[in-house]
Amino acid sequence: MIFNQFFDDVSCTYTYLLSSGKGREALIIDPVLEKTNDYISFLKKLDLKLVKVIDTHIHADHVSGLKELKQQTDCAILMGEKSLSEVVTVRVKDNEKIKIENTELISMYTPGHTDCSYSFLMKDRIFTGDTLLINGTGRTDFQNGNPIDQYHSLFDRILTLPEETFVYPAHDYKGQKFSTIGNEKKNNPRLKIKSAEQYAELMNNLNLDNPKMMDIAIPANIKGKTLD
Ligand code: FE
Repeated sequence: MIFNQFFDDVSCTYTYLLSSGKGREALIIDPVLEKTNDYISFLKKLDLKLVKVIDTHIHADHVSGLKELKQQTDCAILMGEKSLSEVVTVRVKDNEKIKIENTELISMYTPGHTDCSYSFLMKDRIFTGDTLLINGTGRTDFQNGNPIDQYHSLFDRILTLPEETFVYPAHDYKGQKFSTIGNEKKNNPRLKIKSAEQYAELMNNLNLDNPKMMDIAIPANIKGKTLD
């Protein structure tokens, strides 16, 4: 299997490329527009055919590479059914199979960071977007975020996976590349709460500044943006 994690050091975003092997179909999760050339050279080097790109949610901190990748490779663009993106070609619902040659993801609707947030499960690993981060969780104070929804996405869905499941988030600001469900249950300070109400209290009092790119990134990601 080919599994590559790219990092954008401007927005601290992780992007994932999956394929069952050289010369086969590939899928990319959460691409960053400015990094498009890196993805294209990687695909070329391994003779991969990009057939699907996915954003876990409408990002507020970087401009997505979905539209540019579609323009360059004619891949399909997938997002959850509630996404406001105008470039989506396939809208997925909860618990749908997303297939490429010899590889399969399962969609999991995990609202809370935004109301369009999805996670994607692939056998021993889950791509959690900004729902579950390493030692953190995604903020819930804009784009119809909701801490009670996020509590249920975390505790009723993601954290019910086997403890050894690898967690691959959309961001990390400290250079941590992955975690596991077991580690997060044990160490993540945001998960050390006893109820949805207590989680909401915690999340509603974070007093975070808006992301620097927010006013540019959200409209760009709704409309779709290319490199030119
Ligand atoms: Fe986000």
